[in-house]
Amino acid sequence: LLQLFRPLDFLGTVYRQVRQGLTDMAAVFRLIDTKATLEDKAHAPALQIKTGELRFEHVQFQYHADRSILKDIDFILPAGQSLAIVGSSGAGKSTLVRLLYRFYDVTGGRILIDHQDIREVTQHSLRQILGMVPQDIVLFNDTIEYNIRYGRPNASFEEIRQAARGAAISDFINSLPQGYQTTVGERGLKLSGGEKQRIAIARMLLKNPPILLFDEATSALDSHSEADIQATLNQIAQNRTTIIIAHRLSTIVHADQIIVLNHGRIAECGNHQTLLAQNGLYATMWKRQSQKG
Ligand code: ADP
Ligand code: MG
Repeated sequence: LLQLFRPLDFLGTVYRQVRQGLTDMAAVFRLIDTKATLEDKAHAPALQIKTGELRFEHVQFQYHADRSILKDIDFILPAGQSLAIVGSSGAGKSTLVRLLYRFYDVTGGRILIDHQDIREVTQHSLRQILGMVPQDIVLFNDTIEYNIRYGRPNASFEEIRQAARGAAISDFINSLPQGYQTTVGERGLKLSGGEKQRIAIARMLLKNPPILLFDEATSALDSHSEADIQATLNQIAQNRTTIIIAHRLSTIVHADQIIVLNHGRIAECGNHQTLLAQNGLYATMWKRQSQKG
């Protein structure tokens, strides 16, 4: 009987490991919000990052043939500067960031990082230099340490603690009975939207990429937590090329550039002051949000 049980036991362990593996893969794909469908070109070189300049050249995109989502998106984001994208829900903000991460290929125009078309380089090298905090963060069913370490698997524990401090989540983690060993995710401790964002920011800090993409969650945060996280992010974004999709305009008044996206088109472009002076869409949104307080 023992002889019989051992292999079964062993299989059970393997089964659990495989299942955990599958769950993790599923989580990864949900994390990056797509299936891995695009292939690298044969012999594609790695992206050579120099300063981190980003260009969209007349970018067009449609998920399906019958409906155009992004139309003639054209801008240059100089290295180290910040770009905020605002606009109503469905305008195409998250899509724009997904194109940069190359979840999908543009259907017209091109996207360049340091003058290299992102379709010509390996996806691995592209994603190495991008840090993304997506709109819907899904954490692994694993410890907080594991979830942060994912940003750089060979990081030391001290570096993980530093990242947590940088994301202003370290006090919270230390207050948990099991600290960094607390299991989170669907089957673990349920974290608030703000806490999940901070874990994702800690992961990004650990990865330390030259370009940051931040898709702010609308519903997850009250305005206080959002302003708090924004302050953290502003610090991180110093000297890094950053795209922030913003829902509350008060969080992006200092962005170097602001693009107002309307039905997939750049309707207005400027900084906070020039856009207010234009008295257009941005000014209207600003007034509306200021009234709400
Ligand atoms: P935003 O982030 O500005 O709210 P999105 O970029 O998420 O807007 O979506 C822009 C448009 O593209 C919306 O009309 C949305 O319904 C559509 N869309 C988003 N994702 C997909 C998808 N995977 N397949 C088809 N249409 C999509
Ligand atoms: Mg969105």
